[in-house]
Amino acid sequence: MKKGIGPVLLMLMLAMPVWAAEASAPAEADQERIRQVVKEVLREYASSLGPKHLNADARGLMQNLGQDNRNFMRTHKPAYFKPFVDGQRPRATVLTCADSRVHSHAFDATPDGDLFMVRNIGNQIATAEGSIEYGVNHLHTPVLLIVGHSACGAIKAAAGDYSGESGPIRNELDTLQVPKGEAGINSVVLNVNNQVKRAMAKFEEKVISGELIVVGAVYDFRDDLKQGQGKLVIVNVNGETDARKLAQLEIVQATEQAAPRPRRSY
Ligand SMILES: [Zn+2]
Repeated sequence: MKKGIGPVLLMLMLAMPVWAAEASAPAEADQERIRQVVKEVLREYASSLGPKHLNADARGLMQNLGQDNRNFMRTHKPAYFKPFVDGQRPRATVLTCADSRVHSHAFDATPDGDLFMVRNIGNQIATAEGSIEYGVNHLHTPVLLIVGHSACGAIKAAAGDYSGESGPIRNELDTLQVPKGEAGINSVVLNVNNQVKRAMAKFEEKVISGELIVVGAVYDFRDDLKQGQGKLVIVNVNGETDARKLAQLEIVQATEQAAPRPRRSY
């Protein structure tokens, strides 16, 4: 038989300490005890929910995930995993927006073992420093690629009034320095440039020594920059943002050339 919310209330009542009857302020320990009981009961209640409660999208998603993963396992033999089962040697640390429309397959057909991915709203360094440091300082990726994108909701939010958002969301949006009222592609580019600047300051020595190149780009799935829909437009290399100068850089010209994929061994 399906459980109702009744047991939750019952357990809450059982958890009530003497202070309730005495109508005095609960001790910190009592409050914590109640919090733990509530959490436990809610967890039990949530896990007992039947199919009736399963959102159609959630069900569909899990079906798709399962099916796709089975297909993946069937079509990927041990030889596929062999190069990276014992370690990774990615060539880029990549910071992108968490937006569902932005994925690495738009610019890397073989990202496994190659891209160290870090994602958050607004592709900002401030709240992901540890992950980025890990990629740059521990995995020694020669490139830090920061990717913004057209129609970014985080940029739109940061350009507006987000005072009604929760603390954790405000904390992340606070790191995006874009003009109020300007939610378009210019602010997306500005944010990428800001993040590149921050990264260069953070990894100054590596940038100066040539160990690290910081590349800023916009994945333009709406063709806002008029360079073709879906293009990864490079807008910044180590602080250089002038389009004509960028076009002359070897690292930008390399994006027009073909190269064999690396054979990996660890
Ligand atoms: Zn975004």
